[in-house]
Amino acid sequence: MKKTVKDYNYDGKTVIVRCDFNVPMDENQNITDDIRIKSSLQTINYLLDEGARVVLMSHLGRPKGEAKPEFSLAPVAKRLSELLNKPVKFLDDDMVVSEDVKSEVKDMKAGEVALLQNTRYRKEEEKNEENFAKDLSSLADIYINDAFGTSHRAHASNVGVSSFIPSGLGFLVEKEVEIIGKALENPKRPFVAILGGAKVSDKIGVIENLLNIVDTIIIGGGMAYTFFKAKGYEIGTSLLEEDKVDLAKTLIEKAKDKNVDFLLPQDIVVAKEFKNDTEIQTVDADKMPSDMMGLDIGPKTIDLFSEKIKIAETVIWNGPVGVFEMENFAKGTNSIAKALADSKAITIVGGGDSASAVEKAGFADAITHISTGGGASLELMEGKILPGIAAVTEK
Ligand code: AMP
Repeated sequence: MKKTVKDYNYDGKTVIVRCDFNVPMDENQNITDDIRIKSSLQTINYLLDEGARVVLMSHLGRPKGEAKPEFSLAPVAKRLSELLNKPVKFLDDDMVVSEDVKSEVKDMKAGEVALLQNTRYRKEEEKNEENFAKDLSSLADIYINDAFGTSHRAHASNVGVSSFIPSGLGFLVEKEVEIIGKALENPKRPFVAILGGAKVSDKIGVIENLLNIVDTIIIGGGMAYTFFKAKGYEIGTSLLEEDKVDLAKTLIEKAKDKNVDFLLPQDIVVAKEFKNDTEIQTVDADKMPSDMMGLDIGPKTIDLFSEKIKIAETVIWNGPVGVFEMENFAKGTNSIAKALADSKAITIVGGGDSASAVEKAGFADAITHISTGGGASLELMEGKILPGIAAVTEK
């Protein structure tokens, strides 16, 4: 068992918290979705109430080890201050930690909060170099990891720091690991996994691990066509990973051996071109025209998949089942989101595109858990141990 934010006394202490403030912004640095900032409030407010001096850190985008103003966390400091209803001292320094920053932190009072500049301004961050981790940890007495979205990475600000000071999991990370972990270790059955998205190659590990755990695997999205190719179907100009066709065959066989229901789409919405306004038809999966591409699941498939979701007790969903960014190919993904929202099962949506589809469709409140980390939740589903969690102090 890992220590958590609740296992420490913060009286007179400074705590450094790794958050995931990697929020989307428009070209004028306006935050377009602040869910990640909101998700961090529980831990921050708890620490402030406990009388800690709170120093926050995060990365934003990919400045690649350089101080680039377009990746500044200044807009996050401003939004966070509005959400916390108190000032957030933005320690804007290109070096992230410097002598100035150290003395500003020393001068902080109990119940005050500060935010460091983007940790990826330093090239040592992604290499998990000791000097930077040591510098970060020198600011505080205790380190809390509340950035689930980066827990599958071993960087200085989430793994390195825990070598130098005692550490614990924040509320957000604790909740993510508990809900996803429980579903995988001791699921209520039937357990259905829906996997979509563009590529099979991104989900091989997940499919292989889930074959040992779930009752049903539902495949949608671009990766379905590599499986269709494996079954010998015409797939027209659909997305294909030629080098994964044999693997797709093996996975279908493995599912049979393990008595896992392995469901592919039955009908497909096909299009002449990869754009919203083009010639569109709905055809059976084994009757795709050779000059068209599959961009969404059809109505028969929506009914079949929704029925499976309806009788499930646990559902995990990761990846859109069609090109949901285009209105004409969003119906399948929206229908899956609705089926999850209508279900009484424990429903878990992996981060990224499926999470935004659920939120956009207004179903977020009806889902048991929407993960804040796409990559991290996928790695948990692969059965991997996340370095950002493994590094935290044991109880
Ligand atoms: P991923 O990042 O792997 O989860 O993939 C998400 C992307 O897959 C989204 O941008 C979707 O538009 C895309 N996608 C879903 N279905 C298809 C499809 N049938 N053909 C091409 N791309 C797809």
